[in-house]
Amino acid sequence: MHPDCERILLSENEIAARVKEAGAWLEKKFAGTVPVAVCNLKGSAVFFADLLRAAHLDVEMDFMAVSSYGANAVSSGKPYVKRDLFSSVEGRDVLLVEDIVDTGRTLITLRQFFKERGAKSLTVVSLLDKPARRVVEVEADFVCFSVEDAFLIGYGLDYAERYRNLPYIGILKRSVYEK
Ligand code: 5GP
Repeated sequence: MHPDCERILLSENEIAARVKEAGAWLEKKFAGTVPVAVCNLKGSAVFFADLLRAAHLDVEMDFMAVSSYGANAVSSGKPYVKRDLFSSVEGRDVLLVEDIVDTGRTLITLRQFFKERGAKSLTVVSLLDKPARRVVEVEADFVCFSVEDAFLIGYGLDYAERYRNLPYIGILKRSVYEK
């Protein structure tokens, strides 16, 4: 385990098993269609790659970035589109892949974004959900794990751009961000 990690919350095996289930759910949901799978960078990148390989589907991939976190562990509030999509999603079924639904502000912003861009439908899959932290009423359509209110790192999740490549999801030691 990384020395900055207080404990492992979700092991590599637990994540892999649940990602497989999420992939099976997507196969049923999108059978007969070719959705545009959108990765909300950077936190979703690792999950996105595993999830789409677990779902035997015809998909297109696109990437964007919505951000509200700087180099600290507390959300700064208002999310903004930092990097736009490469292609139009007008009239398309969109599969948005998120890392965490926390306060819900990012997801509300993205729901509005895809509506404005004329997407035909929007399905949201989130790796994690922190229901205790919700400020706006919004849910993903499929959540892999509902988790406690702690600052998490690994499997794509960072603190100040580090720890994204840890293969598990761990709780970051408070001493790392409170010094
Ligand atoms: P929301 O807008 O729902 O408050 O925040 C969603 C975003 O905040 C997530 O996409 C994620 O990037 C970031 N976030 C929320 N909780 C955590 C956490 O525990 N660890 C990390 N690394 N990022 C988090």
